[in-house]
Amino acid sequence: MTELSTNNTIRILDIKYGTSVDGIGLRTSLYCAGCQNHCLGCHNPQSWDEKGGEPIRVEDLFKDIVDADMNVTFTGGDPMLHPEGFIELALMIKNNTDKNIWCYTGYNFEDLLQHPVRRKLVELCDVIVDGRFVESERDLSLHFRGSRNQRVIDVPKSLQGEICCLEC
Ligand code: SF4
Repeated sequence: MTELSTNNTIRILDIKYGTSVDGIGLRTSLYCAGCQNHCLGCHNPQSWDEKGGEPIRVEDLFKDIVDADMNVTFTGGDPMLHPEGFIELALMIKNNTDKNIWCYTGYNFEDLLQHPVRRKLVELCDVIVDGRFVESERDLSLHFRGSRNQRVIDVPKSLQGEICCLEC
């Protein structure tokens, strides 16, 4: 059992329970505050402010996730902007539950792997949906992503070699 007590917080804008648009199946989606990507046509520019939302303790988010009993999505905003709290939360989830974790980020997968802290969060996720939203690549027929440049990446497989995307 991983230590479940921590004073760390994540600034949260919203939590959605039972959503089916942020990954496969019904999920608990955490929307964090803060994004520096500022994509043209962003569907959620109110999420850019790093001081937005309310700070919620990681252990309270974990209890919510356990109570909801669904798989989990980290989104925002960009969870990779301040990954420390999400790393703690992902460790709790992985060490104490069987939930899978999807994470949305505007960073490219290859760049995340070069960053010592962001890489830790990547390694705890099952799926990363990467890349900025590019309006000229927008495609409403895509599942779980807004523009064709974004990739739905199978993390465990991709860490072994070439990047492997889910068919969805
Ligand atoms: S990465 Fe996502 S939240 Fe951030 S600006 Fe781009 S579309 Fe908006």
